[in-house]
Amino acid sequence: MDIKTACIHAGYEAANGEPRALPINLSTTFHYESTDEVAHLFDRPVDGHIYSRISNPTGSAVEEKIAALEGGVGAMLTTSGQMANLVAIMNLAAAGDHVVSSAAIYGGTVNLLAVTLKRFGIECTFVSPRATVEEIAAAIRPNTKLVFGESVANPALAVLDFESYATAAHAAGLPLVVDNTFPTPVLCRPFEWGVDVVTHSTTKYMDGHAMTVGGVVVDSGNFDWASSDKFPDFNEPDESYHGVVYSRDFGRAAFIVKARYQLMRDLGVYPPATNAFILNETLETLPLRMRQHVESAQRVAEWLEARPEVASVNYPGLASSPDHELAEKYLPKGSSGVISFVVAGGRDKAAALCDHFGMIAIEVHVADSRSCCLHPASATHRQLTDEQLVACGIEPGMIRLSCGLEDAGDIIADLDQAFAAIA
Ligand SMILES: *Cc1c(COP(=O)(O)O)cnc(C)c1O
Repeated sequence: MDIKTACIHAGYEAANGEPRALPINLSTTFHYESTDEVAHLFDRPVDGHIYSRISNPTGSAVEEKIAALEGGVGAMLTTSGQMANLVAIMNLAAAGDHVVSSAAIYGGTVNLLAVTLKRFGIECTFVSPRATVEEIAAAIRPNTKLVFGESVANPALAVLDFESYATAAHAAGLPLVVDNTFPTPVLCRPFEWGVDVVTHSTTKYMDGHAMTVGGVVVDSGNFDWASSDKFPDFNEPDESYHGVVYSRDFGRAAFIVKARYQLMRDLGVYPPATNAFILNETLETLPLRMRQHVESAQRVAEWLEARPEVASVNYPGLASSPDHELAEKYLPKGSSGVISFVVAGGRDKAAALCDHFGMIAIEVHVADSRSCCLHPASATHRQLTDEQLVACGIEPGMIRLSCGLEDAGDIIADLDQAFAAIA
């Protein structure tokens, strides 16, 4: 099935006389006629639904769709992208363990790894997104449990070198976990480059209309847990679940089944059926939308690069980008609709430019059908001095622009009139 077709049809098929659109199953619990059936579900929870803290038929349909889009064996929805990353990490690492991560990842994930998980006894070493196999290997310790990265980093837009990351992780017997939020499976297929587990903030392009916060974890099914001595949780009986052995009893789906029956059971971070329904609807148009986001961003990036008021433009689709070669290899259909550019004249000029935008709204968000922008130096990073900003890769005059689904000519016209106003 082509990905366009899978976005429409995967996950839910109406039987004769049933609703054509995916029903919203607003029910906390499920009806069974015999204690035997319920007992069976406790032995083999994958055979049905028990309680909507763990799974729900509306959510399951969307999980099946997203697993099909990524080419994985299973997926699990979560209430946010943050929670998707936390669940993926917690399914592999515990107190006393260690993670190696690309340094070019979402700020919330940096905080999760560097601050919150550290308080729970999980340490992290950060390396460059373009680190060589040797550099990544040098950061791996005996207690490392996973290697983590972001396919296209938010907001740095750095492209992960999948091949070096996968080679280094697998040589050490570790799974590679990649947050694929920005490109979505329409533009990037991490499992084809050796990634073992993919996460998403579905809040971004998958929703794409700024309606619902959500996340998802997807299992490739390719990591060989049974032959590894680093993950006893996968290969020894889980006494909290009637002695199931995840790698033996669930085979290629061991990772995602374990995530659901240990972590979702205990943490209860499953989205409501209404949110899963909305996500299912927005996913139907994902390929159309991504094509348009990428086409507009490329045009806008090229236009910005030719402007004298712009000091630099960062977009992997530009030949001038240091990530252009990696982008051509891993993201041949484009990277996303997000661009960053530096306004000549610095902090004040950039803030003034944002204030003069008409259609382009100032928002702490990206990946929306409506174009939006953010000036990090006056918003997310306002506590930092100009020197501190430069040290973490953000110029004081930098603007992050998320190209929406409006006509690219109208986005450019809005930029043009704002430049004229601050001239
Ligand atoms: C937004 C984002 C997250 C966090 O997702 P939420 O849904 O906001 O919790 C994680 N990773 C990336 C790449 C993001 O852009």
